[in-house]
Amino acid sequence: MISKNLTEGVNKDARFYNSVFSVNSVVNQRMSDNMRERLMDIYSELLRHFGRQNWWPAKTRFEVCVGAILTQNTAWQNVEKAIANLKKKRLLIPRRLKKVSIDKLAQLIVPSGYYNIKAGRLKEFVDFLCERYDGDMDRMFSDGADNLRNSLLQVKGIGPETADSILLYAASIPVFVVDAYTKRIFSRLNIVDDNISYDELQSLFMKNLPNNVTLFNEYHALIVMLGKNYCKQKPKCDGCPVKACAGHGM
Ligand code: SF4
Repeated sequence: MISKNLTEGVNKDARFYNSVFSVNSVVNQRMSDNMRERLMDIYSELLRHFGRQNWWPAKTRFEVCVGAILTQNTAWQNVEKAIANLKKKRLLIPRRLKKVSIDKLAQLIVPSGYYNIKAGRLKEFVDFLCERYDGDMDRMFSDGADNLRNSLLQVKGIGPETADSILLYAASIPVFVVDAYTKRIFSRLNIVDDNISYDELQSLFMKNLPNNVTLFNEYHALIVMLGKNYCKQKPKCDGCPVKACAGHGM
């Protein structure tokens, strides 16, 4: 009798858990369909408003890497001036950049701000590239996305945003780049908490969007446009292309 009750109880529990589990799966699926739709709606509105951005503005993959380091904490126009100085001296070649003195490098990249720190970071990166991959970008990018990301994160001065920018914009590896604008905009849209971590926010996009380099490339660039032009520290909501998106928190 005890054993029959136990068996019935276990079967009942199993049926209960199975039904809850399958309801949860349906709910989770609906939530993820809903999230995919929301993220794609926002993307479509941004694309309609700003048009294609065609990032990254650079001639070579090495130039993308240099730009990704120089753009930390500064506007892109300042980076362009620093890059132009490096080009004039024909230093946008790994071996040549490795040979130049750190003081000379710092002087050339003054327009990008924090030039002593950034000269050190460029040197760290170029040492890594030359010592580990013989200065060869093809060899570096054939290392595999996860390996390379982990290795880049070990280079002093390269954080997740810079590493992911290098992977996406220089190597065409489909990783979503997150920045301060992404966090600000998507928390104001009530999609995430404003204390969400880089990895959590990145995985929201990567789990819900098709794994597509062009989409990730444009989406990040469009987020930057929205952050610069509308969703500033003090938001300029009039005319914002995503103002009508459901769930807005402002
Ligand atoms: S409506 Fe305002 S707060 Fe919302 S995303 Fe646009 S600028 Fe930011």
